[in-house]
Parts: sequence; structure tokens; C-alpha cells
Amino acid sequence: MKQGLLVVISGASGTGKGTVCSALMKEMKGISYSISATTRFPRENERDGVNYYFLSREAFEKMIGEGGFLEWAEVYGNYYGTPLKKIQERLAEGQDILLEIDTQGALKVMEKCPEGVFIFLLPPSLEELERRIRGRGTETEESIIKRLGAARKEIDIGRRYAYVVMNDTVKEAVMRIKAILTAEHCRVELNTEMFEVFEK
Ligand code: ADP
Ligand code: 5GP
Repeated sequence: MKQGLLVVISGASGTGKGTVCSALMKEMKGISYSISATTRFPRENERDGVNYYFLSREAFEKMIGEGGFLEWAEVYGNYYGTPLKKIQERLAEGQDILLEIDTQGALKVMEKCPEGVFIFLLPPSLEELERRIRGRGTETEESIIKRLGAARKEIDIGRRYAYVVMNDTVKEAVMRIKAILTAEHCRVELNTEMFEVFEK
């Protein structure tokens, strides 16, 4: 059975990762979204086990100790991590899996899984980033300042990814990501069986 693709999407907070990823998931078959664990409080419209697994710091630290994460990082004062077990199962079943994680986490995944597909999402400008993060209306002023303060540095790490996609409109961004995944599925090393019929 062919392994699925490990797809990683990052970008500064407020760029539109959540919006683009959920539109992508609606349009694409054969890809599943990796639900991260976090110690931050749920936002009003978020549900445990759907958007995140919301854990206490103690439970999160216990899971770190048990080797339960592919990667984890402390982001804006809270822990976030990618649970390992489901990812391994899905990839082995040939399913693609989508990780929406921050740049620190993505750099760790680049080391562990260099065969992954690393996509960086950019906002059209820093002004538009601020408009989006404020417009979302979910953060305190302190949290907004932390997130905007980190944005330039995060964006600079984007240079280390294989692909960059601008989130100007959600439709265009989703179209570009779908094109990247289609191309990745056409890589020769993933399709050597296609040549076998010509070997006789
Ligand atoms: P992130 O997950 O990167 O923090 P979100 O998906 O929560 O970002 O998006 C931040 C805000 O920007 C939301 O209010 C969302 O509706 C809005 N948004 C996302 N993508 C776009 C876009 N292409 N154009 C305009 N607004 C957008
Ligand atoms: P938010 O609090 O806005 O949902 O997420 C804050 C940041 O944490 C975002 O950059 C998001 O991509 C990142 N994040 C979400 N889940 C994970 C994860 O499992 N691991 C890491 N390293 N970052 C994550």
C-alpha cells in the first residue's frame, strides 16, 4: 500500500490558515486533518475533539513524556502539539494528512520527515494581516500584539519551506494548494509501479 503525503501548512497568526484549510478539506478527498492538542482555552465556536483536543498543562506534559507527539511547541504562552498515533495510522492506510502548525513545529517536522510537503501561507500585506486578526475578534489586545510582533520573524522562516502560497482570496489559495498536492502525487519516486507494465 502506498503511503499518504504528510502535508504541513504554516503561516503567521491571522493569515487565514484555518479558513483555507477548512475550505481545502471540503473540496479534497483522501486527505484528513490532524487535530492538534493545545493548552489554550477554547474560543467561543470551538469544540473539543473537532478544532483541538483541549488539555491541561499537566495532561499535555504527561503526553510529551510518553512520546505521544510528532512535534510540540510553546506558542504565545501555550503548548500546541501534533498527536503521533493517528498520523502514523492514516499515512500507513495511504491517506494524506494535513498539519496546520506553527513554524517552530514545522522545522521539527522538516528534520524528522523531510519527505513531507511544506507549504507556507502568506497574507497580502502586514496591514491586511492586522485587519484579519482584529476582524476575527477572538483575541485580547495583548494577544493581538504578541501575534503581530511575531509575524515578521515567522514570515521570514517561510523561506525555508518548499512552497509559498499567498492567501489573497480563499478560492485562489485553495486552488494553488490543490495544484501542489496534485503535482506531489505525480512524483516518479511515488509511482514506480506505473512503469512496471512496460518492463516485459
Ligand atoms: P489563522 O488560522 O491563520 O490564524 P483564520 O483562518 O482564523 O487565520 O483567519 C483570520 C481572519 O481572516 C478570519 O476572520 C477569516 O475569516 C479572515 N480571512 C481568512 N482568509 C481570508 C481571505 N482570503 N480574505 C479575507 N479574509 C480572510
Ligand atoms: P491558534 O491559537 O490561533 O489556534 O494557533 C496559534 C498557532 O499555533 C498557529 O500558528 C497554529 O498554526 C499553531 N498550532 C496549532 N496546532 C499546532 C501544533 O500541533 N503544533 C504546533 N507546533 N503549532 C500548532
